[in-house]
Amino acid sequence: MATAVNPTSHPTDSPAARRYNRIGRWLGMADFLVGFVFLIGLLVTGWSGWLRDLAYRWGFQNYSIAVFLYVFLLLVISKALGFGLDYYGFRLERRFQLSNQRLRSWLWDQAKSFLLGLVMISIVVELLYFTMRQSPQHWWLITWALLMGLFIMLAQLAPVLLLPIFYKFEPLDNEDLRRRVVLLSQRAGTQVRGVYRWKLSEKSKKANAALTGLGSTRRIILADTLLDNYTPDEIEAVLAHELGHHVHRHILKSILVQAGITLLGFWAANWALHYAVDQHMFEQLSDFANLPLLALISTVLSLLLMPALNAYSRFNERQADRYAFESITSVAPFISSMNRLAEQNLAERTPSKWVEWLFHSHPAISKRVAAAEAWEREQNAVGFSV
Ligand SMILES: [Zn+2]
Repeated sequence: MATAVNPTSHPTDSPAARRYNRIGRWLGMADFLVGFVFLIGLLVTGWSGWLRDLAYRWGFQNYSIAVFLYVFLLLVISKALGFGLDYYGFRLERRFQLSNQRLRSWLWDQAKSFLLGLVMISIVVELLYFTMRQSPQHWWLITWALLMGLFIMLAQLAPVLLLPIFYKFEPLDNEDLRRRVVLLSQRAGTQVRGVYRWKLSEKSKKANAALTGLGSTRRIILADTLLDNYTPDEIEAVLAHELGHHVHRHILKSILVQAGITLLGFWAANWALHYAVDQHMFEQLSDFANLPLLALISTVLSLLLMPALNAYSRFNERQADRYAFESITSVAPFISSMNRLAEQNLAERTPSKWVEWLFHSHPAISKRVAAAEAWEREQNAVGFSV
């Protein structure tokens, strides 16, 4: 119960924050629905087969070229279908003064992410159907293993290859903060290889921080929108939280969880594809017109698992928060950084229970603040009794 608490550490959500998050949720659901209906439509109308035949004609009847062209056509159509919603999302950020990105820059980002998606999805799909042709019985296991290798490689390359496609990074040049990072890491008995300034301000007014990379590319990235506006103590609290993710090996654990889910997905896909072939929906397993069916299985699976995965992520976030409480001298800067983040990002401090349960990868800010206060009370109690 919120009795006898400092009112300034428990501000309520503004109508703007409520509105912004509500629209954002509807936008996400609409986007999902468009993709879902598109995939179903492709399968039930036979358009998928028509697109496959077109891809064969354009691809000189070559299987691999046809697979690529089919993927290309599918991505172009789905981009065209979802573009209105994407643009609305861009306008939404500007309407709520969360972004000052120009239309040109946004369009350029869209083009880059489309190309990146095309390259990555083509590689995965080519690999998938190549394995399917070679080994119709074990394709799902082989593809899964190959995909996991690719996934780990991408996690490692993300901070040095993928993120720089969209943002600029430079090593943190603030001596005081670097010293704090070293002290925090020493206390943790670990070593984070780098802390980088993330030039987020070119695209957004929101503040953010993250732990990225694997092995030699492991690093903490801190948005300039945070570095330039928060006190050194607040930044240290955010750093300590990210270090908590590192100490608790959250990236590795998430990859393992993802691997388990993907294996389940491939098993289900194999079953569904064999069933579809038996029912003469497709002539053979490697008929790539069945790709929308695979995408549909993965979509439904991720939708069903979303609450569980978000719960797992919130568990990790609480662990990282707790690590932060233990590493910093006072939780006050943690609390003030949370409140500033909520205000700056128009985050809902107190989302409704079901919204948090379904959509939030992080605990509600009000709960994170309450946990920090409870931790401090606990510490004081221990201090008095000793
Ligand atoms: Zn976190």
